[in-house]
Amino acid sequence: MKKTNFTNRIKRKFKNLFSNDIGMDLGTANTLVYVRGRGIVLNEPSVVALNQKTGRVVAVGNQAQKMIGRTPSHITAIKPLTDGVISDFEVTEEMIAYLLNKAQENSKKLIGPRVLVGVPSGITNVETRAVRDAVKNAGAREVHIIEEPMVAAVGNRLPIKDAIGSVVIDIGGGTTDIAVISLGGIVNSKNLRVAGDKFNEDIIQYVRNKFKILIGEKTAERLKIDVGSVLPLDEPLEATMRGRDLVTGLPREVKINDTHIRKAISQSLILLLDSVKEVLEITPPEIISDILNRGIFLTGGGALIKQLDVLLSEIVKVPVYVADDPLTSVARGTGVVLEDINDFQEILIQDEDGIPLKE
Ligand code: ADP
Ligand code: MG
Repeated sequence: MKKTNFTNRIKRKFKNLFSNDIGMDLGTANTLVYVRGRGIVLNEPSVVALNQKTGRVVAVGNQAQKMIGRTPSHITAIKPLTDGVISDFEVTEEMIAYLLNKAQENSKKLIGPRVLVGVPSGITNVETRAVRDAVKNAGAREVHIIEEPMVAAVGNRLPIKDAIGSVVIDIGGGTTDIAVISLGGIVNSKNLRVAGDKFNEDIIQYVRNKFKILIGEKTAERLKIDVGSVLPLDEPLEATMRGRDLVTGLPREVKINDTHIRKAISQSLILLLDSVKEVLEITPPEIISDILNRGIFLTGGGALIKQLDVLLSEIVKVPVYVADDPLTSVARGTGVVLEDINDFQEILIQDEDGIPLKE
């Protein structure tokens, strides 16, 4: 046994000379790339700028993000993963190829990389295959796929392989993933399209109705992050926002506080909390007792909205913890899995015939 381990390690070292091991968190809002031995090397918004006239990609990531709302009419900035799955296949493929290249800029190897990609739980076989093909076409030698709540749990060092139940709630941009994990598998889960982006939309809508001004997505996001809190705080939060007055058409400045933001997002928040309750209701009693002891883990950027852990804990009567650095949980998790991919074989997604999705 020891000897095999040793031989494997030598083999791997040898392979590493010629090929990179890369982890990708293909998020609806942000894509992170982890290179084994180097850590997280890229963290960029999942945005692509396209020239409509030529059909070509003009910019990807940060650069493309800067163009949102400021582009000439023939250039459109799109988020190809808005709903958590690949809604625009070709553009996603170009984005992946660009990011894989950029991540390996100074460390390109002879052979294409081995890539581990996180996908939302509950993704269909067709969607899984689309992700796999996109990564493959982008130059990967080997593609492995893993469900995001699972890899986020690995990133937070939860005992996913043991007979101990864990709950992970990953609140991203486009989707929230609620998953109960035990013995290396997802016992039950729910994926809903209520997450950070929906909160931003709610804020835009609320401001439009209440103050009769129009604000952009970036402003809404800034308000959510700066003055958003799902419970009242000792000190109220307040911010100034600028938008276009819907009556006069001119710019106008208005003050907004945490009570407004709370009202704006309340419906969506209720949907999210109800979904957590639903998942817990169908969870087997043994696992529920583990959860009572160990608590629920919140991850994804949406987990950072103030007081969400406190509110959720009051509602479901279970301790709730926000993961350390929730925006990088999945990417860090891919790093842990890549360290010992054979050891994690059983938690990778297999295809319809039960064959691991690799070549
Ligand atoms: P995805 O995995 O879908 O790409 P992320 O985990 O990167 O999503 O989270 C992105 C979401 O987190 C965005 O909607 C963003 O507005 C939200 N977010 C980031 N930081 C905060 C914060 N401090 N408070 C509230 N929401 C936040
Ligand atoms: Mg995510």
